Amino acid sequence: MSLHIPFDNSYARLPERFYHRQPASAVAKPGLIAVNHSLAQDLGIDPDALESPKGIAALAGNALPDGADPLAQAYAGHQFGGWSPQLGDGRALLLGEVIDRFGTRRDIQLKGSGPTPFSRMGDGRAGIGPVIREYLVSEAMHAMGIPTTRALAAISTGEPVIREQVLPGAVLTRVASSHIRVGTFQYFAARGDEEALQLLTEHTMARHYPEAEDALALLRAVITRQANLIAGWMGLGFIHGVMNTDNAQVAGETIDYGPCAFMDVYQASKVFSSIDHYGRYAYVNQPNIAVWNLAQFATCLLPLIHKDRETAAKLATEAVHSFPAQYTQAWLARFRAKLGLTGAEDEDGDGDEALIDGLLDAMEDGQADFTNCFAGLSEESAEASFADPAPWRDWLPAYQARLARQGGADLASMAQVNPKIIPRNHLVEEAIQAAQNGDYAPFQTLLSVITRPFEPPQDPKFQTPPRPEQTIAQTFCGT
Ligand code: AMP
Ligand code: MG
Repeated sequence: MSLHIPFDNSYARLPERFYHRQPASAVAKPGLIAVNHSLAQDLGIDPDALESPKGIAALAGNALPDGADPLAQAYAGHQFGGWSPQLGDGRALLLGEVIDRFGTRRDIQLKGSGPTPFSRMGDGRAGIGPVIREYLVSEAMHAMGIPTTRALAAISTGEPVIREQVLPGAVLTRVASSHIRVGTFQYFAARGDEEALQLLTEHTMARHYPEAEDALALLRAVITRQANLIAGWMGLGFIHGVMNTDNAQVAGETIDYGPCAFMDVYQASKVFSSIDHYGRYAYVNQPNIAVWNLAQFATCLLPLIHKDRETAAKLATEAVHSFPAQYTQAWLARFRAKLGLTGAEDEDGDGDEALIDGLLDAMEDGQADFTNCFAGLSEESAEASFADPAPWRDWLPAYQARLARQGGADLASMAQVNPKIIPRNHLVEEAIQAAQNGDYAPFQTLLSVITRPFEPPQDPKFQTPPRPEQTIAQTFCGT
């Protein structure tokens, strides 16, 4: 058993101004929390080798695996709308890339691996809480069929990190189809570095959009993937929490799980993040923010779209303006499937969109649990998810009439998009609390349940909304 990672590092072959090359900083006492066996196998890495002392040392940043070429990527970004010309990997290092068994190039990144020139005031480290949260939520997203970065491993460092309190440190090994963000493009656009923009555009197209022939086609393709991604989030009651442009990945995967959470009781304006004072990243605002982020992306690409500025602006604007229609189609497709609707009824004001909106309004008025309401639709138990069933009862006849017209609900499609289990916030918090005390059993149990989200769990606890005293009202950034 030996650790062999078949690295092939294309990002490291880009010019040096794209990153800062450096080794990870060693930690005091690396300990294994978890290795994702099936993902390791997909990547062509022996999971047992990852769990060996050599593997753990590599995952902690204490030893450099053969072929790795660690670097901190440069990027910029708008954070809550405010411009930061230089962010970059302040607590992460790209170890390198591998081609997985499906032929897809994937990044392997250590998060929490120590300071870099991009750390600013930060310590470059991660607490065990954010590592556990990202591990659980990203693996749940994957299991629910939403594009996402993955968790390959979590390692405890044996070192404290100082936040509001002193917490145990940890390192997450993250796998992504790449870590190229809107903010990566902004970094070079803001510097007027057209040569780098061109190289980054070519790299991104070759890697993620081989069918795109030019920058405009790239922009359009990124818009389509973002529209589908956000519709996927909306269909799960997921709130990302920090949709800054540096957290908008151009390949269209969910990335940077910080103060993210799934809603229990449905509320359109729901916000969890402790720093989102104005609800910029509220549930219902996510598609609007995606457009805002895509407009920043489009702006970066202008010089590559057309030599004539006005023509470039016109083409880019048209592309960005196509988002709402694409998003609405993706959203309708997803929610039709959630309700088991087949075909399309789209009369103005009285079609499927109104029916779906009517259910969401009823859920909000009747304080329904988002996950259990949709999961209950196919089992005639949705009503039980409402604190007040009156709005549900008012809505139901229209739904029954719609189903009668199509000859019954499409139960097969419902079963694929209505999870029975999400990583409920109070259970994630329980797993984090235990892990902070060195007990990883609740994390392991929760992980095994949320990675089979469409199966009924043996323990009903995983489907039960929090009691009032268990409800988590706020979540904190992943630092
Ligand atoms: P985030 O909002 O978590 O995506 O992080 C935004 C920026 O802050 C990125 O440039 C991160 O690398 C940086 N950052 C966050 N936490 C830390 C930390 N503990 N040490 C250094 N940099 C950090
Ligand atoms: Mg980030």
